[in-house]
Amino acid sequence: MSTEPARITHLMGGRLWDGTSERTSEVFNPASGDVTGRLDLASADLVGEVVTTARTAWEAWANTSLAKRTQVLFAFRELLNARKHEIAALITAEHGKVLDDALGEVTRGLEVAEFASGIPQLMKGGFTENASTKVDVYSIRQPLGVVAVISPFNFPAMVPLWFIPIAIASGNAVVLKPSEKDPSAAVAVARLWTEAGLPDGVMNVVHGDKEAVDALLTHPDVRAVSFVGSTPIARYVYETATAHGKRVQALGGAKNHMLVLPDADLDLAADAAINAGFGSAGERCMAISALVAVDTIADELVEKLTDRMRKLRTGDGTRGCDMGPLVTGAHRDRVTSYVEAGVGEGAALVVDGRKDEFDGGDQGFWLGPTLFDNVTPQMSIYRDEIFGPVLSVLRVKSYEEGLDLINANPYGNGTAIFTKDGGAARRFQNQVEVGMVGINVPIPVPVSYYSFGGWKDSLFGDTHAHGMDGVHFYTRGKVVTSRWLDPSHGGLNLGFPQND
Ligand code: NAD
Repeated sequence: MSTEPARITHLMGGRLWDGTSERTSEVFNPASGDVTGRLDLASADLVGEVVTTARTAWEAWANTSLAKRTQVLFAFRELLNARKHEIAALITAEHGKVLDDALGEVTRGLEVAEFASGIPQLMKGGFTENASTKVDVYSIRQPLGVVAVISPFNFPAMVPLWFIPIAIASGNAVVLKPSEKDPSAAVAVARLWTEAGLPDGVMNVVHGDKEAVDALLTHPDVRAVSFVGSTPIARYVYETATAHGKRVQALGGAKNHMLVLPDADLDLAADAAINAGFGSAGERCMAISALVAVDTIADELVEKLTDRMRKLRTGDGTRGCDMGPLVTGAHRDRVTSYVEAGVGEGAALVVDGRKDEFDGGDQGFWLGPTLFDNVTPQMSIYRDEIFGPVLSVLRVKSYEEGLDLINANPYGNGTAIFTKDGGAARRFQNQVEVGMVGINVPIPVPVSYYSFGGWKDSLFGDTHAHGMDGVHFYTRGKVVTSRWLDPSHGGLNLGFPQND
């Protein structure tokens, strides 16, 4: 049953915006196809106001003691843990992923809040006594100011949480621009910061499209930009924001390969490929979309995949199904067009997800798990990031051919090898040109105290997300050289200072 769409608006200075938006966009429940929300889209002027609000709040926050900042972090962590089921329900309602999966993403975000709660330890500098006679040298790290986070639709809670707890803990103010497709979870999480005692204006959410993003990328008071999304937009964000003097990390798209060697446990590999290929309907930047099988075991592996795919249930994420719908009708149509292209290009369509039955509304954005075999590197279903439940099997003759295939791909986000041979696995981790590697682990998403990031077209910039990379990204270093006791008066000397 359709109800009137709810208004979804900006959060600035600790309050929901009460203005009138000239432009709005629709938010859907992907399992029913209903329009459930109407989202305010910010103008460039409104983005400017939000940045000014953040800039003003930042000055006091940057000077707030680490002890007080840590208390806010702990309180936020507790609130997020207590409300994680509510946040997960919001994610499922707008993204479509099944509830368990939505809860999983909140939990991974929570781990970053836990990491950031250790900020006094993480921001510690170094001290060298007597670097020169009676001269001490020490290093400190200071916050940047206002930082922008621009996030994609596929992890509406976790991706913002990769960045925001660390940015706030290290003394910055944040403006988040979430995806316009599923914005409600980001707003709900942002409101928890106020409850946790964060001063108004330190955490803000502005909704919008290119106009809002461009305003953030060019605003002189935005010091750094953390972006996650598709590769063309990541490249654009990196080029535009760096041209405007900002520090930028822009994480892009992916095409993740799983290489299965002949000695692998094929049941384990088949389970892993199904989970990593079809979890969240393939709408994960770490989804496995290319299964690279050494010829001798390929037939057996495809048979095991097919058996497992028959048991998967696709439907409304609130009904205990394995897989939900795609995020929008337009995205479903795009993914379906790739299935048609794969058939046209000569790949063998082993399981056709277009023919499935779905446990959800007739107008939901459905496509069932789909499997192609005999895919070749020239086909568009291999070349492009499809971002849907379409798994392609590519057959290779050897480990070397599999490795070359992976390294020739322009993306380098995640990859996995399945084998019982420790030597082969070690060679792979050394030789593969990918930022995150799994050994018998299909989705090797690093824990919060390591950093998340890909190589090549999967990341523009030098630092990865969270872990110590995150702390360094949101702070800048300063080194102080000091002399206090018995300053020696050596008289005038225009030579370069030397240590003695
Ligand atoms: P997207 O690139 O369409 O959008 C990402 C963000 O950019 C959104 O906030 C959107 O509003 C904004 N945006 C879109 N078009 C823009 C434009 N022309 N100018 C300025 N801003 C624009 O990505 P998406 O569809 O929301 O998310 C899926 C993509 O994100 C996939 O490619 C996926 O691989 C990638 N992703 C990557 C990672 C990673 O860690 N590398 C993680 C999650 C998702």
